[in-house]
Amino acid sequence: MNTNVWKVDKYVDKLESNPHIVDAAHFLRDNEVIALPTETVYGLGGNAESDEAVTKIFEAKGRPVDNPLIIHIADIAQLEQFTAEIPAKAEVLMDQFWPGPLTIIFKKKQGALSEKATAGLDTVGVRMPDHPVALALFRQCGLPIAAPSANSSGKPSPTTAQHVMDDLNGKIAGVLDAGPTGVGVESTVVDCTEEIPVILRPGGITKEQLEAAVGQVRIDPALTNTEGTARPKAPGMKYRHYAPNAPLYLVSGTRVFLQQLVEEKKQEGLRVGVLTTEEHTGEFDADVVFACGRRAELETVAAMLYDTLRKFNQSEVDVIFSEMFPTTGVGLAIMNRLQKAAGNKMISE
Ligand code: AMP
Ligand code: MG
Repeated sequence: MNTNVWKVDKYVDKLESNPHIVDAAHFLRDNEVIALPTETVYGLGGNAESDEAVTKIFEAKGRPVDNPLIIHIADIAQLEQFTAEIPAKAEVLMDQFWPGPLTIIFKKKQGALSEKATAGLDTVGVRMPDHPVALALFRQCGLPIAAPSANSSGKPSPTTAQHVMDDLNGKIAGVLDAGPTGVGVESTVVDCTEEIPVILRPGGITKEQLEAAVGQVRIDPALTNTEGTARPKAPGMKYRHYAPNAPLYLVSGTRVFLQQLVEEKKQEGLRVGVLTTEEHTGEFDADVVFACGRRAELETVAAMLYDTLRKFNQSEVDVIFSEMFPTTGVGLAIMNRLQKAAGNKMISE
């Protein structure tokens, strides 16, 4: 299949009548799948009402079929087509954080969406992304759009159209290229089907922000249980994800200790990579040292995380050591993704 790359300037182009967006909307109505920019990562969109389109999403990504897709909308009025009830706390969250990087789990209205999109669950995750190209596209086609991240399953999520092409060229009808995404980690997934909302996946909206809006919020205990003995409520959280090709180790300890680990591996004749931040790059001597944003501003680390993980593949290192980050604010999402990328491998001083 030929994969179209449609460049769209989100600041300049008249999006509603942009011919590339009109083309992409046609593909969606024909149950083809296309990649689209959001403020978090690039998504792989398809008609959420169609088994055919949803099957194409799973096949292009190689995604396990028990991992449900998030349904994307451009207008809150679309919600009642496929949700059974909208709790008061969900209303508050939508009001404050939509459009934005927050996915809310609702009870599902039966029969309205492809069963494959929700992996047969009786709930559905919904979000309204804060990206003018995504919203213009959804309005243009008028459908609820199922969209997971537009990467091959298991790889780091794509934050540029080039990342999408690296994984999915030839497998999808096209990609709308509007430049790098902003937030860099995926949406926060919060389950609002219970009285106290539960974070099933940390992401772009922090626990602190959610609590300021609706009071107490819990975190799914499976997220902090790194032995993997508790079963996460978001089916996708049980899979290894975001992995670079080389083994990645998180290092808990001083930077001097991290450099000692580098030396040991260099002596074994291995090519060694270090994931650090701008503040600390000068302190490491390895084959490849990548600064992933600034530690003092964790948002910059989130924005660069997946691109940095992908860059290690191009530089063909044999092993990667990474600094760790505080789990406050967006740091919770950063550490969750790094732990998954590392398959929970950690070395402590
Ligand atoms: P991705 O599509 O790659 O951003 O991943 C979406 C995440 O949301 C996965 O971890 C899914 O398992 C999770 N998710 C989607 N729908 C539901 C749902 N109804 N209940 C629980 N988790 C969900
Ligand atoms: Mg994903």
